[in-house]
Parts: sequence; C-alpha cells; structure tokens
Amino acid sequence: MKRITKTIIILTALAVMAGCGKKNTEKELAQFIDEHVQKVKPLFKEMSLAYWQAANSGEEEDYEKASELELKIRRIYSDANDFAFLKKIKEEGRVKDALLSRQLDELYNGYLENQIEAELMEKIVELSTKIEKNFSTFRGSIEGQKVTGNQIREILKTERDSVKRKAAWEASKQVGQAVAKDIIELVKLRNQAARKVGFENYHTMRLSLGEQDVKEIDKIFEELYELTTEPFVKLKLELDDILAKKCEIEVMEVMPWHYHDPFFQETPLVYELDLDGYYKDKDVKELATKFYAGIGLPIESILANSDLYEREGKNPHAFCTDIDKEGDVRILCNLKNNEQWMETILHESGHGVYDLYQDPKVPYLLREPAHIFTTEAIAMMFGRQSRDAGWMGDMMGLTDEQKEEIAKVSGKYAQLKQLIFARWAMVMYNFEKELYANPEQNLNKLWWDMVEKYQFVNRPPDRDQPDWAAKIHIATAPCYYHNYALGELLASQLHNKIVTDILKDEKASYVGHKEIGEYLKENVFEAGAVYRWNEMIERATGEQLTAKYFVVQFVE
Ligand SMILES: [Zn+2]
Repeated sequence: MKRITKTIIILTALAVMAGCGKKNTEKELAQFIDEHVQKVKPLFKEMSLAYWQAANSGEEEDYEKASELELKIRRIYSDANDFAFLKKIKEEGRVKDALLSRQLDELYNGYLENQIEAELMEKIVELSTKIEKNFSTFRGSIEGQKVTGNQIREILKTERDSVKRKAAWEASKQVGQAVAKDIIELVKLRNQAARKVGFENYHTMRLSLGEQDVKEIDKIFEELYELTTEPFVKLKLELDDILAKKCEIEVMEVMPWHYHDPFFQETPLVYELDLDGYYKDKDVKELATKFYAGIGLPIESILANSDLYEREGKNPHAFCTDIDKEGDVRILCNLKNNEQWMETILHESGHGVYDLYQDPKVPYLLREPAHIFTTEAIAMMFGRQSRDAGWMGDMMGLTDEQKEEIAKVSGKYAQLKQLIFARWAMVMYNFEKELYANPEQNLNKLWWDMVEKYQFVNRPPDRDQPDWAAKIHIATAPCYYHNYALGELLASQLHNKIVTDILKDEKASYVGHKEIGEYLKENVFEAGAVYRWNEMIERATGEQLTAKYFVVQFVE
C-alpha cells in the first residue's frame, strides 16, 4: 500500500509543477472516467453475479441473463462518440498524469475492440459459433466406426500396436478437415476487422489490446527456444526410447501417434506421478486455508463466499471471480481430497489473493491484475506446491524418506511437463502469428514445419491435411495461448525472487513464511494495473520478464 500512495503523491506534485494547457484535457478525461465508472461499475458487478449464479445452477435462463448484461456492457464500449473523444486525447498526448494515462490506455483498448461495425461483428460471431458447434458434435472414425475424444485418448494411452495407434491419431485430426475452410474464412474476417481499426492483422491487434508488443513477445519466445532446445532434445530422446520399446519399434520410427495425446502437449504416462495417496485422508480445503494464512494471505473471506463441492448441474471445472473489486472474491471448485484438487484450490486461491489484496486506493479501472498472465503466474506458482516435496512435507508432516521419494519422481515429472508444454506453446504462438500474417499460404505444411522445428516430432510422410485446424483454441481462443507460457515463466521468475532474495534459501518451502505474502502484496497485488505488466515485473523482481528462471527451475 505504501508504494502506491507514494507514487500518487509524487505524480500529483509533478503534475502541479508542469501546469499549463494539458490541465483542461486531464480534467475532461478525469470527468469522463468518473461518469464511465459510475455507469459500468454496477453493471460489471451484476454481470459477475449472474455468471456466478449460472455456473452454480447450470440453468439456461441464468446464462441468458449473464450474456444480456455482457451485451449491455459491450454497447457502452461500442459508443463511437466516446471512442472518438478518447482517441483524440490519446493522439494529442497531453495527458501526463501517470494514473490518468494508464486509465486512458485501459479505456482506449476497451473501446477499440468494440468499434468493429455491427455487421462484420455479427458475421464473425456467427461463423465462430458454427465452428464451435462443429467441434462439439463432430466424431472422428476408425475403420468406419465413430469414436469419441475419450476413446481416442484411451487408445493413445494404452495401445501397443502402432497401426491401431495411427488410426486413432488420424481420427483425432478428422475434425480439422471438417472445419479448416471455415477457420480460414474466420481468420480473414478477423483480419478485416483488425485492419478497419488500424492494425496490420488480427494477431497484432489481439496482442496490442493486451498491451503486448509482437517483438517483445517474440524476444521472450526466442530466448525460451534457445535455452530449452538442448535439454528438450535430451529428454525427448529418453522418452522416445521408452515409447519405442513399448510398441516394439526402433526409436527412429517414433511418429506423432506414439505420444499419449494428439498434439504431444502433455507428459506421456510413462512418468506418471501419483500423489493421491498422500491426500486421501486429508482435507484439501483445510490445507489451503492453513497454508495461505501461514504466508500472510488469509483466504477465509474468499472461501466463505465460495462454492467448493460437487452438485448436480454445477460447472464441473474451477474458476475464480472478483465480483466487485471491493473484496467479494469467490472461487468455484468441485473439491475431492486428491492431488489434482489440491493443486486446483491452491491455483484458484492464488487468483483469489491477487484480487483480494488489491489496494482499494487504486482507481477502479486499474484495480485488477497487471495482465491476465500475471494472475495466471501467481496461480501457477502456488498450484505447483501440491507436488513439491518440501511443501508436502511441511504441510503434512512427512518423514525425510517420504519427502525424498516424492522429490525423486516429482522433479523429473515437472521437468518433462514444463519442457513439453513450453515447446508446444512455441508451435501455437508462431503458427498463429504466421496464420494471421498470411492465411493464403500452405498452412498444412507450415504446421508441420513448426512441429518439427519446436517439438522435434516426425512429420508423417506425404501428409497434407489441415492438422492445425484440429486444435480448437485456434478457432475459439485466438492468439491467447502464449499467455499460458508467459505465466509459467513469470511463476518461475517470482519463485526465484522469493527463494533467493526473500527467504534467502533456495531449498526452503513457502510454508509459514509471512514475508512471502508481504512481498507479493507490496510488489505485485497492490500495484494492480498501475504499471504495464513488464514494468510491474521489473519493479517486483529487478528484471523484465525472462525465460532464464524457468530454465533454472526446470532444466538445470
Ligand atoms: Zn488460472
């Protein structure tokens, strides 16, 4: 809290000293913001409550109410006069007050993405809904028999016969052939919309609206590529060897269908880590409550508003929502006492403390995480604890022997999981960048060029199919995937800062260290979106976002 108050005072003093003509502009903007917040604040709260209600009831009418409210908010942000006003102020560049300028950025981006003309927007929504529907109803087939996604995954996890594996993998790609044409059409419509509001293409626009510069993200991904190539190749060879033996083939013959999921984005089960035994007699909710209290970030008030257990009709997944930016933070879970739900409640509570411990003095529009991936990073950093030998030992009083046993498997597992995911995220990021830059190119070839380059997975001979289109995210969550990778990198960077500078012991577990909560509140949570994400990271860790510490944690 200290830090921001101080910043505000200094900035105000500077503004007074500088004086002059910009004053009117700043006054006008401040007034606009006041009126805007008065309009949207109650609507955002109402919408969050409606989504919360819908996720808990599963009722169609609750979902309808929520989307109606969302539309109402969108209508505010699509106002062309308001946008023209913001644009003019932004282009004049006369707003010097840092907090006002940040709010102007937020507003400008919020309005910009809603300036796409209604007719074009409608076409985009219609086409993406059609594709999404196709994805959920399409069934691939093996030898003329329709199969579900689960059946395909089961085969990829257990089957030893390469011919059968290949057939299952091919079935997983058939949806791509069914939707590829529509996706290319959608990409072109998205590009058209982006160009109308002044961007080169949709990819550039998406990143820019999230305050990400393509060159900046490229640089981080290149660093990650350089630092992980050698260790990835080594790990993958080990893995291929195991997979080849299972199917009684040569290592050189390992093909995409020998991995345990259709895209080689997950760790094959050969290194499976089963820690459920440690959690089955524990209460994961109590463990999370005790842990967060111990690091000075109590979550009782979050849990009191939350909905934690399974129920008919309820959303089966998990999420965290900040209802009003004034302390009503809730998580939805379907807790069971096992390792997966331990991770999930630690993860969602990580989002929760980021929201809960915002500084109430920060302006409403900036009272939110610096970026979607920075809150993901906090959630990931705490989620990783459920498999950490030190954490498990301290939380559950395990013996040194038990801890050693966990460390042996979980270290290897984490390494594989993180490396495999990082290389896969490179495929997604670079493919989407190229896709939007030129949707007319040979995308089938581009996809396999990328898969070979980043994942070192063999291209099936003579394959010319839109395998890329089988990845639903490309259609439904465009240009977003890289944020998962950035979240993992930041989680490691913050972890490194915590163990080296805050705890001053690289082997220490987080358990019981109130300094961690203090550090995060002062440097990450309370700053909200007052600083652009990379500035916040630099202030909090001494460096801008880098892949270095991810590599320290999972490679070396
Ligand atoms: Zn999350």
